[in-house]
Amino acid sequence: MALVAASIHVPSPGDVESALSQSCSAVEDGADIIEWRIDAWPGMDGAADAVAILVNDASVPSILTVRSVSEGGDFDGSADEIAQLLEVLGSTGTCPRYIDLEAPMWLESEPLRMAWKAMGEDTGLILSRHDMLGRPGDLLRAVAEMSSIEEAAVIKIAWRARSARDSIEAFDVLRTRAKPTIALCMGEAGLPTRVLAGREGAFLSFAAGTGGPTAPGQCSVRELVSRYRFRELDAETAVYCILGDPVSHSISPIVQNSGFADAGFNGVFMPLPVAPGWESFKATVGVLLADSGFRLRGLCITLPHKEHALRFVKEAGGTISEIAQRAGAVNTIIVDEEGGLSADNTDAPAIVETLGLDPPGSRIAVLGAGGAARAAVAGLVEAGARVDIFNRTPQRAQALVEAMDDHMCTLGDLDELTGYDVILNTTSVGMEGGPDPEGNPIECLGLPGWMLEEASVVYECVYAPRNTPLVEAARAVGTTVVTGDMMFLAQARRQFHAWTGLEPPFESWRQLID
Ligand code: NAP
Repeated sequence: MALVAASIHVPSPGDVESALSQSCSAVEDGADIIEWRIDAWPGMDGAADAVAILVNDASVPSILTVRSVSEGGDFDGSADEIAQLLEVLGSTGTCPRYIDLEAPMWLESEPLRMAWKAMGEDTGLILSRHDMLGRPGDLLRAVAEMSSIEEAAVIKIAWRARSARDSIEAFDVLRTRAKPTIALCMGEAGLPTRVLAGREGAFLSFAAGTGGPTAPGQCSVRELVSRYRFRELDAETAVYCILGDPVSHSISPIVQNSGFADAGFNGVFMPLPVAPGWESFKATVGVLLADSGFRLRGLCITLPHKEHALRFVKEAGGTISEIAQRAGAVNTIIVDEEGGLSADNTDAPAIVETLGLDPPGSRIAVLGAGGAARAAVAGLVEAGARVDIFNRTPQRAQALVEAMDDHMCTLGDLDELTGYDVILNTTSVGMEGGPDPEGNPIECLGLPGWMLEEASVVYECVYAPRNTPLVEAARAVGTTVVTGDMMFLAQARRQFHAWTGLEPPFESWRQLID
């Protein structure tokens, strides 16, 4: 069973107390072993005594690591300085369970090898290599070389992932390992190597203690153990990812993973950044699907890839729901056991379902003409509503009207603004981290404020924050408001059902995002 290692950075021997207290929290959260990162310690006064306290007072075994600058740490001294520290530790009988030594140093420094040997058999050697820039050119040779070193109890190879494809290569390293191995990718795109490390046969997975990550892309111990259920994942676990750029802000992983856990469903859901552009989308999804061991069973697609997802499924000969065709955008892909694809758009029915009034006979002003607008308009027109589009860039609004090709969908006219039952915002105005977080789309589009008062419902698609300037303005004049989290939950419920065949725990989802 793979271990969960909490990596804790200890700046100096004077920080031992706070490091030990961090280790207690990490163990409570589920860590099996603590990596003490003491990069700056060799040569410092009191270093050996302080290591003894860390190793002896921690409630779980320790890994001692001095990471050099060239491999992503802070140590800029020589191998001799590390050797001297190890010599003192050996002579005082301080034996961490493992010591991590970098392979280039190990190979070059006889004193380092001698000092490690003198520590005795209770301290295992983790021989490591790190590349902070990207996949090492000599990846397979480096792994074979480290594996052939008899003294190494465990080998570790880590590099910065440039895309999700790197993770699959790390899994190949694990699947063909000659001895206990850690293979992981740093950065956001490397998350699968941390979450799925156990089921892929890794010796351990590193996670961050309460003091924060010690390497890019580390999630916390609590996230690894509780959100991603690290210890429960196995060869049968179905994998789901949300693909987008950016993607780290998404609440889908929190919601879907809690749904899987609640339903006892053997699945895991991870965020994966995919750089903009058709080529990167196609390459990433292609690689994830081609690896049968990865067991990709579904994708949630967000900006800027919803149209790429439609094209991908079409080119792969998969089936596409009518509403996704009509919207020209896919936010959900289902992968069957044989690798067959089907695609849907759950945003469209989610908006119809949560609109707050019956679409037939309703007049709706849709603000925006991007991906969310396409889904909204496709769903509302299909449900019998009359929709007018208002957008900052008129050509985009025109293109949407033409794409819908339906007399119930027309361009909004600034001279005829009365009679709207619903004002539906699909622009990203008001979104945290968006183009205009403080903005109100009504004002941005030059529409009059009284439209909010006249409408029966103001529907906001933006869900972060829940109370956008538009929501506040609508509430101030007493109009009923549907907030973006209602749409989010309704579309997420449909995704959950499409992937698992089950109903999600809707009430606990509500509380989760409250
Ligand atoms: P998108 O395709 O990028 O479209 C953005 C829209 O916002 C475009 O119409 C754009 O107008 C308009 N816009 C951006 N900045 C503006 C400004 N300063 N003034 C006026 N208009 C501006 O994005 P999307 O995928 O449709 O997503 C839009 C929003 O919906 C996001 O906040 C997203 O998080 C949210 N959303 C929520 C859910 C949910 O489940 N609640 C689901 C999907 C999307 P131009 O055409 O002129 O650029």
